[in-house]
Amino acid sequence: MKLQDKVCIVTGAASGIGKEIAMTFAREGGKVVIADLNKDAAQAVADEIVAAGGVAMATAMDVTSEEQVNASVAEVVAAYGGVDVLVSNAGIQIVHPIEEFPFADWKKMLAIHLDGAFLTTKAVMPHMKAAGKGGSIIYMGSVHSKEASVLKSAYVTAKHGLIGLCKTVSKEGGPHRIRANVICPGFVRTPLVEKQIPEQAKALGISEADVIQKVMLKETVDGEFTTVQDVAEVALLFAGFNSNALTGQSLVVSHGWFMQ
Ligand code: NAD
Repeated sequence: MKLQDKVCIVTGAASGIGKEIAMTFAREGGKVVIADLNKDAAQAVADEIVAAGGVAMATAMDVTSEEQVNASVAEVVAAYGGVDVLVSNAGIQIVHPIEEFPFADWKKMLAIHLDGAFLTTKAVMPHMKAAGKGGSIIYMGSVHSKEASVLKSAYVTAKHGLIGLCKTVSKEGGPHRIRANVICPGFVRTPLVEKQIPEQAKALGISEADVIQKVMLKETVDGEFTTVQDVAEVALLFAGFNSNALTGQSLVVSHGWFMQ
């Protein structure tokens, strides 16, 4: 059990990558908090974990709202006594060419990915410091934290920004044994990606099969999607690695799409 009794908040855990991370952490003994905009779906994931013998709770959290983030973290601390691990994972995708990118959509993207990461970090750090046990903060980046793709200006900007935040949190958190790292997955077939396939086909004027093979997986070594399990394994590594030796890093898990 790599996370026995560790309190782990996972944002955006009602679906996709976050859900798999939550289930994996629960199997490793973590007390898992399913924090999501969609409270009903979050409760369903928590119920699934509890039914399987794990410990979990759901909390309604819009990561762009300072008030909701703080209230939600306070609820977790009241229930479980502290916070040991934060996975800032909630995210969405909006694609447009730059000249057509609505400013409101740009701001929404930066709010969810960057304000969300900042606000959740700001809310958990005092609890990690006060408990004196250190902690692990994990940001869900992307290959787009390292590389760019057409139509994704806001996403690429936000995902690159997470690396800067991670490095700063590593330095400020270091004396308190608070570690910060970024996971950078390639394409994973979650609802977020399923939605993009027809959108990109339309925007690029190609078939959906071509979006998958010639755009999304073109640069991989084997034409395969990364899986939610692949990403959850890396999250477990960062969450369970109990030393400052591994901090300020970003790890790409992408079937070789991007090589450092
Ligand atoms: P998903 O759509 O399956 O799940 C995203 C979850 O985030 C949903 O449950 C949604 O309700 C929640 N959410 C959205 N806005 C929120 C908000 N304001 N506050 C709280 N919760 C909110 O998506 P996914 O593919 O699992 O993506 C999870 C993360 O992984 C995102 O940050 C995404 O950018 C990143 N990522 C995904 C891929 C991929 O290919 N799927 C690749 C690299 C990185």
